[in-house]
Amino acid sequence: MKEGHPKGLYLLFFTEMAERFSYYGMRAVFTLYMVAALFTMESASEIYGYYTGLVYLTPLLGGYIADRYWGNRRSIVVGGMLMALGQLLMFLSASCVRPAIYEADGVIDPAVDNHLAVLLMMGGLFFLILGNGFFKPNIATMVGSLYSPDDKRKDAAFTIFYMGVNVGATLGPLLCGIFEGDYLNPSRFKWAFLCACIVMIISTLTFYLLKDRYVVTHDGQPVGIKPAHQQRAVKHELSRSEKQHIAVIFIIAAFVIFFWAAYEQAGVSLTFFADQQTDRHILGWEMPTSYFQSLPAIFVVLLAPVMNLMWDLLGRYGWEPSSVMKQAIGLALLALGYWFIAWGVKDLDPQVKVSMWWLTGLYFIHTLGELSLSPIGLSLVSKLSPKHLASLMMGIWFLSSAVSNMLAGQLSTLYPDGSAKSLFGWVEIRSLYDFFMLFVSMSGIAAVALACISPVLNKMMKK
Ligand code: GLU
Repeated sequence: MKEGHPKGLYLLFFTEMAERFSYYGMRAVFTLYMVAALFTMESASEIYGYYTGLVYLTPLLGGYIADRYWGNRRSIVVGGMLMALGQLLMFLSASCVRPAIYEADGVIDPAVDNHLAVLLMMGGLFFLILGNGFFKPNIATMVGSLYSPDDKRKDAAFTIFYMGVNVGATLGPLLCGIFEGDYLNPSRFKWAFLCACIVMIISTLTFYLLKDRYVVTHDGQPVGIKPAHQQRAVKHELSRSEKQHIAVIFIIAAFVIFFWAAYEQAGVSLTFFADQQTDRHILGWEMPTSYFQSLPAIFVVLLAPVMNLMWDLLGRYGWEPSSVMKQAIGLALLALGYWFIAWGVKDLDPQVKVSMWWLTGLYFIHTLGELSLSPIGLSLVSKLSPKHLASLMMGIWFLSSAVSNMLAGQLSTLYPDGSAKSLFGWVEIRSLYDFFMLFVSMSGIAAVALACISPVLNKMMKK
């Protein structure tokens, strides 16, 4: 087996790290910006849900165009430029915004005209959504293309790449968060958006300048150039095994919806929990609620090498679980994380706050699940996709995240607020325990079902 990884992996690592810095940095202050001067909390939550959902929908388009016309390289450069433009429009929006909220009651002042700021923001979101569609699936596809189809280093390569995602996701909010504004000074947010814009430009430029040198296969062939498969793609000549492989991607992507819908509670219900029911004092200092959101990303960076080592060790004894089984393990760990916190809050009085170790423990367990599922899933898609549809299939994979992000917002509305709520009229949610157990059941059932059908899927994956 070849040792080490191609240099191109590290260029893709850096490019994606900077892009995720920009994406998550903007995302960390986005709702705060909206409620500071432009929208009520409810409207802001809705816009946020649509935005985070749509950014994962456009990879379908970006993947299709890359496979059919442009190739990955050009798609990434175009996507990167569109995203930088999107961040620039966010910067301009916050540059012309005016304070518009009555001091204590949070009501938007109709006399203040912030229409231009809203228009610029909507334009910014449009370009971010479109740009992400071109960027996200294509950078992931290129990681896979650096290796030959049967190269055993792929899972490890995607886990390293995933660390890049999360170094960016940790640093972006930390830096952009410095420039949080408020209803008295909403314009201060512009510096956060400007940081996101500059880092996006750095990401795109670095990739543009270094791609020819580093993004090549081991025998020096360029990776991600304009595809030479157009004719084949038009006729859709798929063999029986290719069709089966595509079916496996669809089936696993459907299961993964349950993972992200529960996992993405981090930005919504788990943030309410951090805010209202968690004692955030450390030696007299009260930790800001939003800091909890960087915990999973930090854990990914710390735990990714450990996970790689563990798969490697298990592999040596022939005990490494199959990629499908790793997806099921990811779902099971998600259920375990929710079970852990459900246990912590059982019989908790609504006024009482619990120790922050419960939430920290949940994120720790969830991160182990994420590392078992997310990078391995990317690697799986890369291994199974017919070469001429590789980026489109990556787009299909991210489609599950689009559905999940929208679903996550809906499930979060069940967060207990004193009144009994019900899911489709048949599950009653009265307490935090009920709420968390809902996710235990959801991901637990998905884990067991996936584990049960894994032998069939493994068979379908064979050539
Ligand atoms: N944290 C991952 C990323 O930003 C999530 C990917 C996904 O939702 O599939 O890449």
